Amino acid sequence: MSRDAIDLHTHTIHSDGTSSVEELLRAAAENGVGTIALTDHDTTDGWDEAARYAPRYGVNVVPGIEVSTAHGGIGVHMLAYLTKDTRDETSQLARFLASARASRVERTKEMVERMSHDLPIDWEYLVTHCHGSSVGRPHIADALIGRGVVSNREEAFTRFLSPSSPYYVKYRMPATLDAVRAIVADGGVAVIAHAWSDRRRDRLSEQQLGELIAAGMRGIEVDHREHREEERRRLRAIAHENDLIVTGSSDYHGLGKPNRLAENQTAPEALAAIIAHASSPTEVIRP
Ligand code: AMP
Ligand code: FE
Ligand code: FE
Ligand code: ZN
Repeated sequence: MSRDAIDLHTHTIHSDGTSSVEELLRAAAENGVGTIALTDHDTTDGWDEAARYAPRYGVNVVPGIEVSTAHGGIGVHMLAYLTKDTRDETSQLARFLASARASRVERTKEMVERMSHDLPIDWEYLVTHCHGSSVGRPHIADALIGRGVVSNREEAFTRFLSPSSPYYVKYRMPATLDAVRAIVADGGVAVIAHAWSDRRRDRLSEQQLGELIAAGMRGIEVDHREHREEERRRLRAIAHENDLIVTGSSDYHGLGKPNRLAENQTAPEALAAIIAHASSPTEVIRP
């Protein structure tokens, strides 16, 4: 792998990854990945650590967020790159994220409560084993692993955590169009993550993708392990027709998923386009 590899989608313990920011940056350095985007679910909590550790490991970091949203009843993960820090009181996105995180806590508590009647799991165990502010089903999975009920997250999702499970509870997410407009207003660049993942039951139509593009979405994550070749081809064509940025990424979750850093990559020109379209005070962290 070249020293210049660019991977624009990664997670840490600030959401549902298993590496700290420092461990993520060390792994990037050791694997020859020159640039990563830090995109924890619904939080910017890792950004400060990225700024602190980037110089030590010599890795460029693009600050980002993977925003959980819904459009027409379909879950949509929207990557927000170089968007205004949500601690800035003028941030439009901040309000949505704060309420999404609060709803995540309530929902996860409710799922754990339902499961506790049948399985050795309780909220106390979960909170002592979860480090970030953005809690979710992967943390329930880790608690089930810790209690010896399942051997990995995949098994936990299949047996207990899918939307068809009696334990499943929804949480409140912002409407995708509102999130995209907020990202644009905050000077960030909105890129849809794994839009046509082969793991999902229903996915956005091309017309719905058009609605997001009309709202200001600027790019499509095309190269992702959950996209088959056919999906990649069509998404690439849609991006081309609409003058959108094409990205590729690992969606690294440490030990939480088999995804390896930079298993899919983004071209330098695409990163340059993201930087050119961003207008917030947030900049790429360069060591
Ligand atoms: P939540 O946002 O709490 O509903 O959890 C969704 C997250 O769980 C996604 O962002 C994925 O990272 C993770 N996830 C979904 N399915 C699986 C799976 N089969 N194995 C591991 N992680 C998964
Ligand atoms: Fe995740
Ligand atoms: Fe995602
Ligand atoms: Zn992700």
